[in-house]
Amino acid sequence: SKGAAMVTAVAQRVTARRHQVDESLSSFRLSRDQLRSVKARMRAGLEAGLKSNSHSPVKMLPSYVFRTPDGTECGKYLALDLGGTNFRVLLVKIRSGLRRSVRLYNKLYPIPLEIMQGTGEELFDHIVHCISDFLDYVGMKKARLPLGFTFSFPCLQAGTLVSWTKGFKATDCEGNDVVDMLREAIKRRNEFDVDIVAIVNDTVGTMMSCAYEDPQCEIGLIAGTGSNVCYMEELRNIEKMQRMCINTEWGGLGEDGCLDDIITEYDNAVDRESINHGRQRFEKLTSGLYLGEVVRQVLLDLTRRGLLFKGRVTEALKTPGIFETKYLSQIESDRLALLQVRSILQHLGLDSTCDDSIIVKEVCGAVSRRAAQLCGAGMAAVVDKIRENRGLDQLNITVGVDGTLYKLHPHFSTVLQETVVALAPQCYVTYLLSEEGSGRGAALITAVARRDQVEIDA
Ligand code: BGC
Ligand code: MG
Repeated sequence: SKGAAMVTAVAQRVTARRHQVDESLSSFRLSRDQLRSVKARMRAGLEAGLKSNSHSPVKMLPSYVFRTPDGTECGKYLALDLGGTNFRVLLVKIRSGLRRSVRLYNKLYPIPLEIMQGTGEELFDHIVHCISDFLDYVGMKKARLPLGFTFSFPCLQAGTLVSWTKGFKATDCEGNDVVDMLREAIKRRNEFDVDIVAIVNDTVGTMMSCAYEDPQCEIGLIAGTGSNVCYMEELRNIEKMQRMCINTEWGGLGEDGCLDDIITEYDNAVDRESINHGRQRFEKLTSGLYLGEVVRQVLLDLTRRGLLFKGRVTEALKTPGIFETKYLSQIESDRLALLQVRSILQHLGLDSTCDDSIIVKEVCGAVSRRAAQLCGAGMAAVVDKIRENRGLDQLNITVGVDGTLYKLHPHFSTVLQETVVALAPQCYVTYLLSEEGSGRGAALITAVARRDQVEIDA
């Protein structure tokens, strides 16, 4: 009959649509073998970066942090945290001995886009303005506190910024010393003084703050706006200092094209539209600043092909940055009914049918799953390297973790951990969430650095 024929036609259209969506998403699916190969490429990147005078995309920057805290640290510190979701200034009080504890007071200061992407001088003046406000707030303008600066970008030890990443591109900073720039801005303001002791990557701060709780913690992982790992590497032949923490800057993997076979056309679109085209290719597959953009590129493509949103490419869909990590996390939550997914999409300015919302959820799932698997493959490379470094058949180790993606996304951490189990079966890895890692970590490093300095001087 005619009715039956129509039903069949509709069913065929639905099947055809499904088929095309599935095909687009299949480019995000990675086999176990592909993941093993990513692990091997990360390992090769780590090794290349450790060689002197190499220009490896994985930079392997020495941190000059030689040990994790041992509980004897104490004092009052000022800490700054720049480069994640927010800028923060913190006052950290560390006590040793029986009343061993870390307490902190902090204040959040948003950094406006025009300052993130203005001149270096404006950026550092703004930072100093915030410090000044904070010192008034805690009533410590006169104190000349030791300061630890968590600066979540690739930095050489002297404090030289190698390159901005994520959303920052303030001028006249790359190649310059961040500590000098901060010092000069403090002089310009001429209202207070601090003793800048340490500049720290957020991965290192996270590792240190978790190591304060768990001495087995010798890796720091950030899966947030950006993506990066640090770990304690062996220093052969120097008896006094056995290990040094290395900031891998693993986000750079793939800048030489070594990930091109897994990179999709959607990833390339995201890279082309980013402010650091061609750079941080691994980071652009794995971190919060980019995942939403990858999702948006897929949705744009499906819509243009008439498979989604009735084929209507709206302004909302053309707006970079609409899919923040928090929306991905909400959309992918298992407890959410499709109706709620639709209302989130509505909130983002996207009119969806029930079928649309199913597809959007699948797109988010494919993109975030791949991200977690790739991070897991990278982590597998790191833990196996540490295990081999130490000549062990089995390694027990703790990873201190921070970052909105890891902490807030409903599946990211599970998939990452499962991938590590599958790819590094000889390593038993515990994951410890860092609480206030950047602030506590910066203060702990400052404390350790001052103590070790005193010991060397004495
Ligand atoms: C930076 C790293 C940082 C990571 C996480 C990356 O973009 O290059 O230095 O650790 O983001 O914040
Ligand atoms: Mg942070």
